[in-house]
Amino acid sequence: MIRQLDILVIGAHPDDAEIGMGGTIAKHVEAGKLVGICDLTFAEMSSNGTVALRKEEAEAAAKVLGLSVRSNLGLPDRGLSMAKEQIDEITLAIRKYRPRVVFAPYYKDRHPDHVTCSHMVKEAVFNAKLRNYLPDTLPAHQVDHFYYYFINEIADAQLIVDTSAQFSRKTDALKAYYSQFVARAGQAKDYVATPLNEGYLEQIELRDRLLGHKAKVKYAEGFVSELPYLVNLF
Ligand SMILES: [Zn+2]
Repeated sequence: MIRQLDILVIGAHPDDAEIGMGGTIAKHVEAGKLVGICDLTFAEMSSNGTVALRKEEAEAAAKVLGLSVRSNLGLPDRGLSMAKEQIDEITLAIRKYRPRVVFAPYYKDRHPDHVTCSHMVKEAVFNAKLRNYLPDTLPAHQVDHFYYYFINEIADAQLIVDTSAQFSRKTDALKAYYSQFVARAGQAKDYVATPLNEGYLEQIELRDRLLGHKAKVKYAEGFVSELPYLVNLF
């Protein structure tokens, strides 16, 4: 039987979730929450590494973070679209894992797949709660919260999570993607220079420091919500 997840993070490619919120994931796992990542594609269009290698790397990163679930819908890399069949796959993943909170990539990003993924997940979160939508599949499920995490962009974060104590674990999870972030062009056979292996990890550290500065902590990850966040002041 599949256990209900507390948090489900959805990304276009393996490594998206780790880039945006690896610290937040680790923090909630440490707190005993069940966290899963669902990747939409195997990033088969990546310039470096093979699909088989990236699968191994994603599993290694999952172990570092202590994920309860890591799944992949196997949708086409650079072929993500708002097609009903693709969005339905995400809707069914949400119904399968019944998370309390869903995270998607922020809807502005230089990579078009991240933007498409963002819009797809928003549709899927909505459809998942409609009991007359795909009624003969899995029971409808309404998530409590839906937030966006940053991959390449940094915008005005509305929610900030202190990840100071989890930053090194986040870095370890990212380094598990050796073919993407660590192997340099010319160092290993067939590796070419990309934005990811030319100082990307340093950029993520600087971003997390900057977001931390806003909340007077060392490292933080920021999120955007389209709905107001209910706060109890006392
Ligand atoms: Zn990506």
